[in-house]
Amino acid sequence: MKYISTRGGMDAAPYSAILLEGLATDGGLVVPETVPQVTMEEIEGWRGLDYPQLAAEILSRYATDIPREDLDELCRAAYSREKFVSEQIVPLTPLEGASPIGQISLVGLSEGPTLAFKDMAMQFLGQALEYVLARSDRTLNIIGATSGDTGSAAEYALRGKDGVAVFMLSPQGRMSDFQRAQMYSLTDDNIHNIAVEGVFDDCQNLVKALSGDLAFKRQNFLGTVNSINLGRISAQMVYYFWAWLRQTDAVPVGERAGFEVSFTVPSGNFGNILSGHLARAMGLPIRHLVLAANENNVLDQFFRTGTYAPRGAAETFATSSPSMDISKASNLERFIFDLLGRDPERLSAAWHELDETGRINLIAELPRFIEEFGIQSGTSTHADRVATIRSVFATSGVLIDPHTADGVKVAREFVEPGIPMLVLETAKPEKFPDIVFEATGERLGMPEHLADLLDLPQHVTEMADDEVELRGFIASRAVKP
Ligand SMILES: *Cc1c(COP(=O)(O)O)cnc(C)c1O
Repeated sequence: MKYISTRGGMDAAPYSAILLEGLATDGGLVVPETVPQVTMEEIEGWRGLDYPQLAAEILSRYATDIPREDLDELCRAAYSREKFVSEQIVPLTPLEGASPIGQISLVGLSEGPTLAFKDMAMQFLGQALEYVLARSDRTLNIIGATSGDTGSAAEYALRGKDGVAVFMLSPQGRMSDFQRAQMYSLTDDNIHNIAVEGVFDDCQNLVKALSGDLAFKRQNFLGTVNSINLGRISAQMVYYFWAWLRQTDAVPVGERAGFEVSFTVPSGNFGNILSGHLARAMGLPIRHLVLAANENNVLDQFFRTGTYAPRGAAETFATSSPSMDISKASNLERFIFDLLGRDPERLSAAWHELDETGRINLIAELPRFIEEFGIQSGTSTHADRVATIRSVFATSGVLIDPHTADGVKVAREFVEPGIPMLVLETAKPEKFPDIVFEATGERLGMPEHLADLLDLPQHVTEMADDEVELRGFIASRAVKP
């Protein structure tokens, strides 16, 4: 299996080469040359596998240049009981009474070290990066900006790994106590937390300035692990297969082949749902992929109208489901590539239109969104999140976080009789105790296994919003081959 660019200007490259990239050399996004196909017989043959075994089975279709025994080992290390609270790694939880029309269940993607779904991809990426770097005598210094979740998932996945260091910038005094404790309590030598005097955008600008300086980047072996990284996208496909298998365990054997389920995905950068799109394209019987947006509903508008009009930071609202506060969905280019018949010329023309006019008009393709790709979409608001957290707790006794609540709210609008609706649970409610309290009056403390987190000593370097100081800091601490 080789990987190409959506814009057609990159030589085909193997998985281990693109794992360290994200963006293709021509500015497009990296995609598999063809989507590997699996049959119902093959999927049925995976029913007895545990999560790491299933991950290796699916990832072996993509990481064809990593020997299978090694891939087995990487998946075993990534999805271990030491890192995930649930024995199943990804548990399914039916929400009794959540809808009068059909059954809604949660797919638990936040059992990992940072209590959010980013761990599902990052844990695999951490193992795979260390493996690939060691085999090519390379090193990688990850530089990133975070306002919370992505940074901690990267740090927990890469802590203690050989050949890798993490330089994570966060805005001073702007993260929750929980998020600060989670990141700053790490003691590994290769993790560097830098609290910048400023807001998230200042951190982001520093990262952009350093990543854009090619000489500095090369000298210090800098890289990123953002949501366009194809290693992350490939690892996220696994839980769609897993959820289908667990949902159909209770279906009579003769009715399992082709048994359709739908998924609802709380979305921001379109990474999670893109993995579902690829799983469906591989042959998994997914009826609908329902995109749930919050008030930042650029993607919902696109799937309802056929016009994609990204917004700037100034027009992006700060909401109570903050990890979805995104108005420019980096991964959408991969979906539009498929929509336009995987034709790099048509894709490039669409992005040219975006540069010229600030929008892409695909109204002519609108009927195909649902007919061919099964995509539906909806929007949720703060009031919806509060009402949904409250009603789910009242009817099923399950507490959900605000992002998952966006998902359940939209799932209720699209659930169909006889088709199980699986909502991806993207974070644990303990990370968002205020809205849970507002909705239910329940005061959530720390999860038991993290009870002492807030009391641990914290390690962070405070820095002015100063590019020169940051350069010096990184240059003196970057791991070199
Ligand atoms: C990142 C994130 C999302 C959005 O996922 P995308 O892949 O960016 O669409 C949703 N919920 C939570 C909790 C997240 O951390």
